[in-house]
Amino acid sequence: MRSETDAQEAGPRAAADAERYRRIVHQAYEGIWEIDAATVTTFVNPRMADMLGYAPDEMIGRLLADFMDEEGRQIAQRNVERRRAGISERHEFKFLRKDGTELWAELATNPMHDAGGKYCGALAFVSDITEKRQSEELAWRHANFDDLTGLPNRHMFTDRLEQETRKADRGESMLALLFIDLDHFKEVNDRLGHAMGDRLLVEAARRIASCVRATDTLARLGGDEFTVILSGLDSTAGVERIAQAVVGRLAQPFALGEESVFVSASVGIAMYPPDAKHTPDLLAFADQAMYAAKNAGRNRYSYFTPELQCVARERQLMSSDLRAAITQGEFEVLYQPIVALASGEVHKAEALLRWRHPRRGLLEPSEFIPYAESTGLIVAIGDWVFRQAARQAQEWKRALDPQFQVCVNKSAVQFRRDAELVQDWADYIAELGLPPQSLTIEIKEGVLFEGAANIADSLREYRRRGLQLALDDFGTGYSSLAHLTSVQLDYVKIDRSFVSRIEEEGSELALCEAIIAMAHKLGLEVVAEGVETRLQQALLADAGCDYAQGYVFAPPLPAAELAALAHRQR
Ligand code: C2E
Ligand code: MG
Ligand code: MG
Repeated sequence: MRSETDAQEAGPRAAADAERYRRIVHQAYEGIWEIDAATVTTFVNPRMADMLGYAPDEMIGRLLADFMDEEGRQIAQRNVERRRAGISERHEFKFLRKDGTELWAELATNPMHDAGGKYCGALAFVSDITEKRQSEELAWRHANFDDLTGLPNRHMFTDRLEQETRKADRGESMLALLFIDLDHFKEVNDRLGHAMGDRLLVEAARRIASCVRATDTLARLGGDEFTVILSGLDSTAGVERIAQAVVGRLAQPFALGEESVFVSASVGIAMYPPDAKHTPDLLAFADQAMYAAKNAGRNRYSYFTPELQCVARERQLMSSDLRAAITQGEFEVLYQPIVALASGEVHKAEALLRWRHPRRGLLEPSEFIPYAESTGLIVAIGDWVFRQAARQAQEWKRALDPQFQVCVNKSAVQFRRDAELVQDWADYIAELGLPPQSLTIEIKEGVLFEGAANIADSLREYRRRGLQLALDDFGTGYSSLAHLTSVQLDYVKIDRSFVSRIEEEGSELALCEAIIAMAHKLGLEVVAEGVETRLQQALLADAGCDYAQGYVFAPPLPAAELAALAHRQR
């Protein structure tokens, strides 16, 4: 009786429980998937079937392996082995949906055992993480690949280079790093626009890829710079062939819309381990070799050589020496007289920097200014020169001539970091009680060409404060007459390369005359640079040139010698 009541009561409770389980299983947000010992699907809930694009009935009775690709099958087999060994685990896994697309899932899987403890299958709770995987993958792609060409970017390249050098160490093989830079790409980009430039880059990437093995890493570092890692080399023999192929392929015309465009490539090659022991060096050396290829005329490749190595070491040394030079007082300023052609009197002097290097002797600007510019030290050095020159101008204003002017060179790099400099220099002149027109700032055309608004501003500011401006080396760069009017200038200096030809070539003289006439119309005075002969001096004087500077009068001199010369002339 009692047992009957129990059974009667247990009946509805069991039914309620069953209903509850059914609800949980059917409405669960997670997929539930049960397989037997032979990996045949014995149960899936609707959510699980839905994730894979099936109806539940379509899945029952099918092998687990039916829902994955070959790689997945191998992994699943190992997973099932672990289940047999009684191991539960959480893992990520890729299934294939009915329509062939991928389902990335996170699984919590548990083995099931019968009453006798024998393995009888497994039960998995499955969550769909496809979206998360995709956005992770997207972020990863973004961080590691170049959007335009789909090639590995600098980040990925750096990783691969590390890996490949380690592999080379283990396998005692070598690798070659090719640094490829397109020649004249910027011109194409400027002329035809960025869209065409992009097309050219994609095509260039394709051409480079066609020259290397699939196992080599081709990367785009940015702009028109590509790198290739050729790994597992026994010798340097094959490298040459590949470099030649890359140069050859890129020299062929690119069809861009209507146009057929020619660019070429300069390739630098550095070898690991012979050239460098560390990957950053390897990249820097391949880059230097690329520059050597460019300097040798482009459209070619160049190896990193011991000479280039010397240059690299030199540059490092130079930078640290330069830092010390200011505090050690190793700089000197020489002054080259600038003579008024009408009277033959010294009216001005250009301050020209020299470096008395402790080991290498007296250095000319061309030997160290480029380093000073690339390291930014030119700002501090230029500041020192300016103050030196200002004090000298003050002395000569008293001793030689109240109108005497000293000219100071200022490079583009100095302008780029100019913020407070104009103010500082103006303050310093005021402190000395020096009339500002005692100083002239010499700039090269490139400074105007950079066109940065703040440069035009600081030039205007100099003039507003009464300093004078000279355009240096006119006739070398773009020699655009438009530049003579883009900012208010006081002088234009005709470059030595021009002056040196006026004796032989009538056309050069005619050009000089035209520049002088033009400058005068614009209210500028003209200084001829590098005048070396009396004939040049006479021709320039006849052409109406106002001033001249050059060895015919004097080379750059120590201040005292310039003063003596100026006295003699008067
Ligand atoms: P620059 O301003 O055009 O200076 C004229 C250069 O021509 C000087 O070379 C001078 O010695 C040289 N020169 C003068 N007369 C003759 C001549 O008759 N024949 C020949 N062949 N050369 C002559 P330097 O002193 O070697 O200076 C080279 C350049 O270095 C200068 O060209 C200037 O651009 C730069 N520089 C010099 N000092 C400074 C400085 O303090 N700061 C900056 N930023 N640049 C400087
Ligand atoms: Mg100059
Ligand atoms: Mg010059």
